[in-house]
Amino acid sequence: MTQIRKTRLPNNPKPKQWLAKDRSQQYIASYKPFNMVDGEGVRCSLYVSGCLFNCPGCYNKVAQNFHYGHPYTQELEDQIIKDMSESYVQGLTLLGGEPFLNTQVCLRLAKRVRREFGHTKDIWSWTGYTWDELMKESEDKLALLSYLDILVDGRFLLAQKDLTLQFRGSANQRIIDVPKSLATNQVVIWDKLRR
Ligand code: SF4
Repeated sequence: MTQIRKTRLPNNPKPKQWLAKDRSQQYIASYKPFNMVDGEGVRCSLYVSGCLFNCPGCYNKVAQNFHYGHPYTQELEDQIIKDMSESYVQGLTLLGGEPFLNTQVCLRLAKRVRREFGHTKDIWSWTGYTWDELMKESEDKLALLSYLDILVDGRFLLAQKDLTLQFRGSANQRIIDVPKSLATNQVVIWDKLRR
């Protein structure tokens, strides 16, 4: 008899089921200044700790743990701002873990970046949530979204894995222009998307 092997899928939360205020320990898995892989141009990337989607094949499984790494500090924030002030740095990238389950850290940093640099630097974030899911989510998540320029949305799906895609691991994920999407109330894809 042929056995059908079932592939486990990522978790699917109900709207507002997972809240940063209940989950985040405000821990950081890693900070990578001056990298060229987490979005367009030279970027400073903050990897926050904790994610509940549990995607099979997750690229950063250790950072699913909310206690992984070390606490976010004022010193780290000041270092990020200092690094970002270099003229060749295009912007900040938030990833993890799940930035939208660490809004205490990500929102605080995004606000500081806007205070210091206005819109001369951009802010990208990755998330396991889809755009449609975020639209039904808690106020802190929507507030974080409002500070972003680009959102790469959706779980990593092994069945749709494609390493040739620009800035994402599986074909379901999208690179979304956040201001245009919020203004038109529909998903607008980044106009520099090549593949
Ligand atoms: S959403 Fe991202 S960080 Fe979270 S489990 Fe999936 S691949 Fe890993």
